[in-house]
Amino acid sequence: MRPRWAIVAGRAPPQRPELSFTDRRGAGSTGRHPGRLTPLIVRKDPMSRIVQKYGGSSVADAESIKRVARKIARAKQRGDAVTVVISAMGDTTDELMDLAYQVSPQPQTRELDMLLTTGERQSAALLAMALNDLGVKARSYTGSQAGVITTERHGDARIVTITPGRIEKSLAQGNVTIVAGFQGVSQDTKDVTTLGRGASDTTAIALAAVLGAKYCEIYTDVDGVFTADPRIVPTAKRIPEITYEEMMEMAAAGTKVLHLRAVEYARREGIAVHVRSSFSDNPGTWVKGHADIAKGNQMEEAMITGIASDASEAKITVVGVPDEVGRAARTFDVMAAAEINIDMIVQNVSAVSTGRTDISFTLPMSDGQRAVQALNAVKDEIGFEELLYDDQIGKVSVIGIGMRTHPGVTAAFFDALAANDINIDMISTSEIRISVIVEAPKLATAVQAAHTTFGLDTNGEAVVYAGTGR
Ligand code: ADP
Ligand code: ASP
Ligand code: MG
Repeated sequence: MRPRWAIVAGRAPPQRPELSFTDRRGAGSTGRHPGRLTPLIVRKDPMSRIVQKYGGSSVADAESIKRVARKIARAKQRGDAVTVVISAMGDTTDELMDLAYQVSPQPQTRELDMLLTTGERQSAALLAMALNDLGVKARSYTGSQAGVITTERHGDARIVTITPGRIEKSLAQGNVTIVAGFQGVSQDTKDVTTLGRGASDTTAIALAAVLGAKYCEIYTDVDGVFTADPRIVPTAKRIPEITYEEMMEMAAAGTKVLHLRAVEYARREGIAVHVRSSFSDNPGTWVKGHADIAKGNQMEEAMITGIASDASEAKITVVGVPDEVGRAARTFDVMAAAEINIDMIVQNVSAVSTGRTDISFTLPMSDGQRAVQALNAVKDEIGFEELLYDDQIGKVSVIGIGMRTHPGVTAAFFDALAANDINIDMISTSEIRISVIVEAPKLATAVQAAHTTFGLDTNGEAVVYAGTGR
C-alpha cells in the first residue's frame, strides 16, 4: 500500500542568517540601516562598481581563462571598477574531493578545506596573469586575504562579515581585483574554511553588497535561468526576469545555476543579479524584487515559472518506531546534533496491531553515511527495528507565484506524472512550490512531463555552452 502522508515538512532553515552583522560593522560604517550590510566605506560613485563572477566551466582551461580575461578587460575599458569572483577550473573541486577520498576514507574537514580552497586560488592567480598580459592591472586574493570572515564550520561555513580593506586598496590602485570564491577564514580558529558547494555565487553577492555595487553579474555556461535545466529539457526557455522569491524556491529545489544563500542575500541587500553566459553576449536573467520586474514579464500571468530537479538527495526510512510521544523528536534531535539538514518528512499511520510506525525523510546524499551511523548509535534508545537507505531517488518541483491564485496545479502535475507511469513517493509544498520524490531513473521524464503540462516548451533549443553538468 502507498504510504499516507501524516507529516510534511519543508527544508530546515539555515542555522543562522548569513551576514546579519548589526553589531560587527567596523570603523567607517555609515551606521544607517541597522541590521543590513552597509558599505564600510562611503563612496561617491557606487554606480561604477561592478562585481562579476565566473563559474568553473567558464574557466575550464588556459584558453578559457584568456577568453574570460578579454571579457573582463572590456568591462574595465568601459570605465567600471571591476571586482571578479572566480571558481575553480572545470571540475577541479570534484577532482580534489575524489583525491582526498582516495587518500583517506574520512578526510578531516579542516584538511579538506585546506585542499579545496587551492582550486580557486589557482584560477584566481592564472586569471590575474592573463589580465596583466593584456595590459590590464590585476591582483588576485584568497578569501582570507579579501577579508571574508566566516564561522568555523568546515565545508559549510557562513560569512560573518567582510573587511574589504585590501580589496578597497586594490580597487583604488586601479586593479581588476580578483577574489577566490567559496572560501574565507574562521574568525575563531583562523583556519581557512569553505562555504559549501556552489558558494562562489554567495561570495560574489556578499562582495557586491559590501562594495556598494549596484548589481552583480553571474557568468555561467547557459544563457540565464531557464524554465527547467536545459541539460534535461532542451526546449526550456530563458526567463528574462524572475523575483528573488521564486529564484529562492528554484535554488532550494535544486536549480544549481544560483546558490540558494546567494539569492537570500541578494534579496536582503536589494542587489539585482544578472545571470548570463560567459560564452555569448546575450542578455540573461535578471533576479530582482517584484516591484522592479517589468510589467510584461510579471509572472503572475504565467501559472508556473519553472520546474526544478534535484538528484542529490537520499531517503532514510526508520522502520518500526514505537508510536509514542517523543520518538520522532528524538530521531530528529540526533540529525540536528549531527548538523544534517532534513528536507521532506513522511510518517506513516501506525498499524494498531503493532503500535509501531515508519518515518521516512530525505537529506543530502553526501550526509547519508553519517546519518545512518548517528541513528544506529541510538537504535536501542529510540527502539526502531531497522534503517532503510535509498539514494536512487529524485526530486521534481513545480514553482510559480501564480500558484497562489490558480487552483488545480497539483492535480495537473500529478496527472502528468500518472500519465507517464511515475509513482509519487513523498510530497511537500510551500505557497509557491509543489515537490515530489520519484524513482531516480524517472526523474528526467517527470521534469519533461511537468514542463510540457504547464505549457513551458518552446520551439527552439536551449544552448549549453560548456561544462559536464557534474
Ligand atoms: P557554474 O560552474 O557557472 O557555477 P553551475 O554548474 O553551478 O555553473 O550552474 C549552471 C548549470 O545549472 C547549467 O549548466 C545547468 O545545467 C544547471 N541548471 C539547472 N537548472 C537550471 C535552470 N533552470 N536554468 C539554467 N541552468 C540550470
Ligand atoms: N568550486 C566550488 C564548487 O565546485 C565553488 C563554486 O564553484 O561555486 O562547488
Ligand atoms: Mg555554480
